[in-house]
Amino acid sequence: MNDILPDQTPVWQFLENQVKAVLGAYGYSELRMPIVEQTDLFKRSIGEVTDIVEKEMYTFEDRNGDSLTLRPEGTASCVRACEEHGLTFNQVQRLWYMGPMFRHERPQKGRYRQFHQIGVETFGMQGPDIDAELIILTARLWRQLGLEKSVTLHLNTLGSAADRARFKDDLVAYLSAHIEELDSDSQRRLKTNPLRILDSKDQGTQALLDKAPHFHDYIDADSREHFDRLCHLLDQAGVAYEVNARLVRGLDYYGKTVFEWITDELGSQGTVCAGGRYDGLVEQLGGRATPAVGFAMGVERLILLLETLGAVPESVHQKVDVYAMAMGDAAQVEMFRIAEQLRDETELRVQLHCGGGSFKSQMKKADKSGARFGLLMGDDELANGVITLKPLRESSEQRQIALKELAVELTSIYSTE
Ligand code: ATP
Ligand code: MG
Repeated sequence: MNDILPDQTPVWQFLENQVKAVLGAYGYSELRMPIVEQTDLFKRSIGEVTDIVEKEMYTFEDRNGDSLTLRPEGTASCVRACEEHGLTFNQVQRLWYMGPMFRHERPQKGRYRQFHQIGVETFGMQGPDIDAELIILTARLWRQLGLEKSVTLHLNTLGSAADRARFKDDLVAYLSAHIEELDSDSQRRLKTNPLRILDSKDQGTQALLDKAPHFHDYIDADSREHFDRLCHLLDQAGVAYEVNARLVRGLDYYGKTVFEWITDELGSQGTVCAGGRYDGLVEQLGGRATPAVGFAMGVERLILLLETLGAVPESVHQKVDVYAMAMGDAAQVEMFRIAEQLRDETELRVQLHCGGGSFKSQMKKADKSGARFGLLMGDDELANGVITLKPLRESSEQRQIALKELAVELTSIYSTE
């Protein structure tokens, strides 16, 4: 679990603001959910035999003896909240949330125990059009962030629950006959969660899968049509994708569409965004049958990617435009007044020097602040109704400006950048 320090938070804010702007452009609304839920919610939604529920949840008893869990993902909480507040009854929803998730995994680059997701969930729309919208929206975000050349879209359909059951039976029958050729993880999964074997990284297992029954031969007409229409909409929108029949995702609740945006730049933690359709989940959690589709982005991985590519604009680290200094008590009072006035009358970010010190030490702080100009108020300036404007980043000379012209002057300097 990491602290996110002040030199990092500007990058986080940059990413969050870009995401908010894109989601706003598609008419999505924010939902804020609690960080703990009843343990049972995750067991029933994510699935008892998934990695998350078997070994990654932070679960504890509260003072009433209730079993609570720090949320490992947002979809289950979002469905719970929507049901509790009747948000999916006779209406569609397009929602997003952001915040920390908790999984007890082995920490490594791009994998942490407290990490952050930005999640998007939609309810009440059963056609592939909304699947396409979600993917097109993420593609826009990558363009906005300058990541479009560094991520590829992997797309698959998981068919219906019945399709998966038939496929699972045949797959298990085939793999059981070749059990000694499977890696040990896959041998275990053969009994618990055989579909997960499809995304095993083991080469022997992958070679065996080439000869195993193929998932797409089991997909029913409805799912096939849904998938074809989705592909068509993406083609028409100019969003490129790779159909990857072995993409299954780690959670039990997905059916039909699943997708992942993957990058090669981050080593094995390459999935920056993942999602899919989960039409059965709302009903499974006690609501009315409600079609649903969503995805989640891993914020840390996106930030790693932005930094690896040098795609974060330098300006995000700039937090001050003007650094205001004063020598003497009366000058300081006046500087407080001027700083407030500038914040009233301009958009400039004004940092007022606090903590006293010589002129020289104040200038050092001004330099370090990253501001483009320093403002100086001393006894002379005070007596003459002027202020000294000192460039901190360029070689031009300092000069005095009449106080009443300061706001206009600064605004015009900063607007001609
Ligand atoms: P992975 O295959 O990398 O373990 P996942 O399938 O468990 O991912 P999801 O549950 O779908 O991931 O979560 C969506 C996204 O959240 C992932 O694609 C990833 O970007 C991010 N994510 C998941 N687990 C972590 C983690 N422990 N630390 C950082 N980011 C994570
Ligand atoms: Mg995982």
